Amino acid sequence: MSATFQSLRIAQPLQSVISEIGFESPTAVQTQAIPVMLKGRDIIVQSQTGSGKTLAFAVPILQKLKLTKSSPQALVICPTRELCTQVAKEIRTLGRQLHGLVVTEICGGQPIRQQLETLRRGVHIIVATPGRLLDHLSRDSFDRHGINVVVLDEADRMLDMGFGGDVAEILQATPASRQTALFSATFPHGIKEISKQHQSAPLRITIEDKLQNTLRHQVTFCPAEEKSDVLLLLLQQYNVDRTLVFCNFKKSVNGVVQSLRRLGCSVDRLDGDLQQYQRDQVLAKFKNKSTRVLVATDVAGRGIDVDDIDLVINYELPDKLHAYQHRVGRSARAGKDGLAISIALPKQQKKVRAISEALDAQIEQVTPPPSLHLDIVSQDAKMRTIQISCGRKDKIRPGDILGALTGDAGGLKGSDIGKIDVRDKITYVAVENASATSAAKAINHGRIKKKKFRATIV
Ligand code: AMP
Repeated sequence: MSATFQSLRIAQPLQSVISEIGFESPTAVQTQAIPVMLKGRDIIVQSQTGSGKTLAFAVPILQKLKLTKSSPQALVICPTRELCTQVAKEIRTLGRQLHGLVVTEICGGQPIRQQLETLRRGVHIIVATPGRLLDHLSRDSFDRHGINVVVLDEADRMLDMGFGGDVAEILQATPASRQTALFSATFPHGIKEISKQHQSAPLRITIEDKLQNTLRHQVTFCPAEEKSDVLLLLLQQYNVDRTLVFCNFKKSVNGVVQSLRRLGCSVDRLDGDLQQYQRDQVLAKFKNKSTRVLVATDVAGRGIDVDDIDLVINYELPDKLHAYQHRVGRSARAGKDGLAISIALPKQQKKVRAISEALDAQIEQVTPPPSLHLDIVSQDAKMRTIQISCGRKDKIRPGDILGALTGDAGGLKGSDIGKIDVRDKITYVAVENASATSAAKAINHGRIKKKKFRATIV
């Protein structure tokens, strides 16, 4: 029997709004998360956007609210201003029969004085981005002692954007007795750490995607001298954001990188010859979409913690089965289907069959893509990476970088900026290709936290 909103023990004023809106029955995430949230237990929910997760945390928050108290009782933290607006709107809609309810958005890029005034007048629910919220916590702009629930929405994206440290500080600054609900589409190591440090005995709920992630295996046979053409044709055919190409030897890595680069492809190499700082830079650029193709050896390819790899190409078949698995396992993660294509020599038919049997998976043989125009390669990346000479050691937070690049200071729009990756001594910022020069100029001519730093496009 499937659940109904009545069976979830949702209070009357909320039930009636839900039926006014026209939602007939709860979604899977709502059925599973609402009772746990109502009990006050910590929870980790793995679900995608579109699963109805906002209602799943909004309803319990609203139901437990004491409207007579005017100090904040719930914090919802979101990675972006746009998401804050969306979430605050949904909470207000669901709470429209709760008279006197005040839900406020606290985001960066908005005048702080107005926010201070709103907070002073009293609010029940704060929906915020991490940086600005932390700012208010350090100013003590509101009474934090009444906060009994904190929701981290799209937690993996917050980590991706470099807000992990801010989120940890926010959790540290709120009452230890609070309930913590963590919503995330994926579960990278960083999320597990946050949960371990800041939740107590959380219940974990996984909402399966309707479609199982699948990894397709393909092989195409060609003579050694045609391999690099076939690789290029495959890259053109699929034209995806992130491709990982594996070779067995450093020498082949260099050859592949050179031939792709000559044709204008956005490509980097990852092999054992790189210094640590070069490796960091190469991986940061691949992660933030400044590099479309990364060519790696097996050893160097270990520890690439990028979830969103669209395509894995084996430029050379590995000798060992576990190496094959390791390589192709980089695709079909984070809720996406994946594709692994091997470019093999005709004499390697037996080896391909052995891999297929050992994997118990079909490796589909495909013909090399028809040759198009080898000289026309449109493989430029969407983003460019700006490397800035400041980091955690300078007490820099992603919000400081965002502030320096956007608004009057930098002139860029928030939507031009991608991942902000603050390391110990340096920061990598992904910006839209067309804005890279002005972004670097803005940093070089301006100041961050009253100090001058150097920016270079890498
Ligand atoms: P979310 O995952 O919170 O972004 O929600 C995705 C969309 O589903 C939103 O537009 C909601 O309005 C809608 N939605 C949420 N709960 C339900 C429900 N029980 N039935 C139908 N639609 C829903």
